[in-house]
Amino acid sequence: MIPFNIPLVTGKELHYIARLFKDRKFCGDGVFTDKCNKWLENNTKAKRVLLTTSCTHALEMAAILADIGKNDEVIMPSYTFVSTANAFVLRGAKIIFVDIRPDTMNIDESKIQKAITKRTKAIVVVHYAGVSCEMDTIMKIAAEFNLLVIEDAAQGVMASYKGRALGSIGHIGCYSFHETKNYHCGEGGAILLNDSRFIERSEIIREKGTNRKQFLRGKVCKYTWVDIGSSYLPSELNAVFLFANLEVAEKIRKKRLKLWKRYYDKLSDLGKNKSLELPNIPDQCEHNAHTFYIKLKDNHQRHLMIDTLRGSGIQAVFHYIPLHTSAAGKKFGRFSGKDINTTRESEKILRLPLYFDLKITDVDYIAGRIRKFVNG
Ligand SMILES: *Cc1c(COP(=O)(O)O)cnc(C)c1O
Repeated sequence: MIPFNIPLVTGKELHYIARLFKDRKFCGDGVFTDKCNKWLENNTKAKRVLLTTSCTHALEMAAILADIGKNDEVIMPSYTFVSTANAFVLRGAKIIFVDIRPDTMNIDESKIQKAITKRTKAIVVVHYAGVSCEMDTIMKIAAEFNLLVIEDAAQGVMASYKGRALGSIGHIGCYSFHETKNYHCGEGGAILLNDSRFIERSEIIREKGTNRKQFLRGKVCKYTWVDIGSSYLPSELNAVFLFANLEVAEKIRKKRLKLWKRYYDKLSDLGKNKSLELPNIPDQCEHNAHTFYIKLKDNHQRHLMIDTLRGSGIQAVFHYIPLHTSAAGKKFGRFSGKDINTTRESEKILRLPLYFDLKITDVDYIAGRIRKFVNG
């Protein structure tokens, strides 16, 4: 059986965890959290990066930092994970869903302006599969209408747009280190602060709304409750696990890209003769091979393909029932304009196994099975 994902183990994790036992320091913001924050700052050029317990929590912090409240509207694609919307709904906002581009599955930047009203506070972009949204256009619209841009870059670690790291382009960026992502610690995330006005407050919100961080730096003599917040910092056990991934990040990136390219090369003729669709990477985007997907004709053909692959011991999966069609999505949001691409394209997509320990020969086998199906 070739599963869809096998979480990465680098081999260094237990060695590092043993060091925590020696030092007896397990709670958050220790040496390894600091190492991860610095590593991420160096590699993204974000002004400040803080590890969080998840990308979901990084998004919740972003919603608090953006001062989202009742009657505010937040623009985002409907083709995304629930956390992108939940974070803002938790603060009372209405979600305005905008259609996606079929070529990247990302928000269609040309349809954003029409969705803006007096109540709009922020645009949340999702870089699907680690392929960037059209950020220059989106940042220009945001500047014109005085809106914040928050990047859900859960899938975008080590990917870039015109040479800039995803998550470092908008005002705030959010990363995921869930075990299904390229770099992980089981459950984890990070918030990237690219606008210095958010840095101090983000430290407070992450520490239960206290100024504990300033206290530890000796800036105040007592720490106390100063703002709303929650416990958004991970334990050192998570940080140390993540560090074992980050220190070999380049090796992981290269391996994933190699597997991705093999799929692409092996299936490219089927893409050319339109038997199926292959992913598109715009010139200005450097992706991170977060996922390799193909697109079938429709939901029916997709299910036949899933069954065929399963019969060959291959687990292929799809995801994202468009949020605007879900029970909560209907309650907390509305779709701006017509859903031309979101539902149709989401019903075509099929994600193939892609993980560090996958073998090139596995990719060849999977591509061969797909070819057999397509050729009837
Ligand atoms: C994985 C993912 C999340 C959630 O990440 P967690 O770290 O599991 O909270 C949010 N948004 C997108 C687009 C994701 O892919």
